[in-house]
Amino acid sequence: MPEPSALRVRLVAGRLARVRERVAQAASRAGRTDDVAILLAAKTSPVEAIRAALGAGASLIGENRVQELVAKAPGLADLPHETHLIGPLQRNKARAAAAHAQCIETVADLRLAQRLSDVAARDLSVMIQVNTSGEATKSGCDPDHALDLAVATAAIPHLRVTGFMTIGLNSTDVRAVAQSYARLRAIRDAAISGGLPAARHLSMGMSGDLEIAIAQGATIVRVGSAVFGSR
Ligand SMILES: *Cc1c(COP(=O)(O)O)cnc(C)c1O
Repeated sequence: MPEPSALRVRLVAGRLARVRERVAQAASRAGRTDDVAILLAAKTSPVEAIRAALGAGASLIGENRVQELVAKAPGLADLPHETHLIGPLQRNKARAAAAHAQCIETVADLRLAQRLSDVAARDLSVMIQVNTSGEATKSGCDPDHALDLAVATAAIPHLRVTGFMTIGLNSTDVRAVAQSYARLRAIRDAAISGGLPAARHLSMGMSGDLEIAIAQGATIVRVGSAVFGSR
């Protein structure tokens, strides 16, 4: 294994501690007592940086590309952790994704969900990705269709819908960003009261805006640069 240098370990552990503090403060300001998990968005970060983070107590990793997910898996296999796919998934890579990730956060259409079910060797957690910002460049399903997609996906064998994910509005307008996150929370609440109690997670918020997301109910924040440095 490419073991991280002592310097790297100190750097990553220090940044992770700072992110934990931010999360705890934001949760406390929001009056929340439930858990907010920190998912480390590891795209482009080398295995040794991820090993340093896992050594510092991280336990949840996110990868954007299936190729990277597969390539890094052997170098992380001896450290307990869970991996989520947080980038767009093409159907022809569903098998590899299902084999190496415990959760696919980016299901935005029923054909991909069906494909994941067909290739999964075991039960697989998935989240419904929603385009809450209306920006054409962002992936995810239309908010108006998210609930139907969640219900249909939950009915597919082997798939367990654990919640909803969004890449929020990229803006300095705090209120507009909060609105995009509130939209995801409303979809999640409707899913829970509509018969999907397991779909309770809200994966939203990144290094720059995790406080806004936590105030709107995020249960998973996806943090990259604040721990691994700028890409
Ligand atoms: C990179 C990435 C993140 C983390 O972004 P940072 O600004 O580096 O914290 C979160 N979610 C997704 C989908 C990403 O691709």
